[in-house]
Amino acid sequence: MTGTAPATTPVTVLGLGAMGAALARALVAAGHPATVWNRSPGKAEELVALGAEAAATPGEAVRASRLVIVCLLDHASVREVLDPLTGDLAGRTLVNVTTTSPDQARASAAWAADAGIDYLDGGIMAVPEMIGAPGSSVLYSGSATAFTEHRKLLDLWGESEFFGEDAGLASLYDLALLAGMYVMFAGFLQGAAMVAPAGVTAREFAARSAPWLSAMTGGLAEYAEVVDGGDYTVPGQQSLRFSDLGDILAAAAEQGVGDEPVAMVQRLIRRQIDAGHGDEGFARVYESIRRGPR
Ligand code: NDP
Repeated sequence: MTGTAPATTPVTVLGLGAMGAALARALVAAGHPATVWNRSPGKAEELVALGAEAAATPGEAVRASRLVIVCLLDHASVREVLDPLTGDLAGRTLVNVTTTSPDQARASAAWAADAGIDYLDGGIMAVPEMIGAPGSSVLYSGSATAFTEHRKLLDLWGESEFFGEDAGLASLYDLALLAGMYVMFAGFLQGAAMVAPAGVTAREFAARSAPWLSAMTGGLAEYAEVVDGGDYTVPGQQSLRFSDLGDILAAAAEQGVGDEPVAMVQRLIRRQIDAGHGDEGFARVYESIRRGPR
């Protein structure tokens, strides 16, 4: 573990929603003097009982520490809280772990640079219960100085990884990973809806789906190799024509349920077949996504 700041760096946390409170709890538990603020009253009480100081205003909270963590709902709420505090934040380090788009992260970094604020953007790959526990990771980009100086503190939340000085990169990786997760979850729920009329509970279907989907993740590296190689005609791949999802769509209709998650994948496949690539590998679906529906 690296990090040059002392183990007892004073830290301010703005935002005590489910995630902000979990982050603050981990800092307090590790012995960091913490000042916390939340827009609505009542959310600081648990942290105060653990030893944190509650600030009455975000300005008071910012002025209490050289290191400020912000974990609010979205970019708009971050701007609403921080824009009036530009002067107070000058000369301090700001770590923004609020989920924002890459360009919103870059806009925050540009604002911070103009104001003399050392800015690190973060994307949390964990739910609040996982903070400080195995499996939690947080992706960072922006100020390398801030990351290096506070690495030890950041590691209290999970495994920390730095992606470079482009502040948008952590968010880009975060959202790209979430894209895969949400589409997988929708696919699972599609299957659960299909088996439900047959009397199968979602719980039973989940127990069957988890090992199946885990086993299928082996395919990611194989698809990646084809995508990176740029040759979708490499022998040994399942062809797009063979991957026609008509039977799955028919089964959903027979069960009397919707089919949007599967229909979406079928559209991506069809676009490539219609363009004359039916004998090429399934990985060519990447081209449907990369080019968009043109
Ligand atoms: P919550 O909904 O629990 O909390 C939202 C927080 O934002 C609250 O402190 C809320 O204050 C504050 N807030 C919202 N709007 C404003 C505003 N206009 N001005 C001031 N404060 C405002 O969300 P989470 O804590 O779960 O999430 C926080 C961030 O962490 C989000 O960006 C989320 O995407 C990210 N994240 C969350 C994960 C999770 O599993 N929960 C996982 C990974 C990332 P108030 O109490 O007054 O409403």
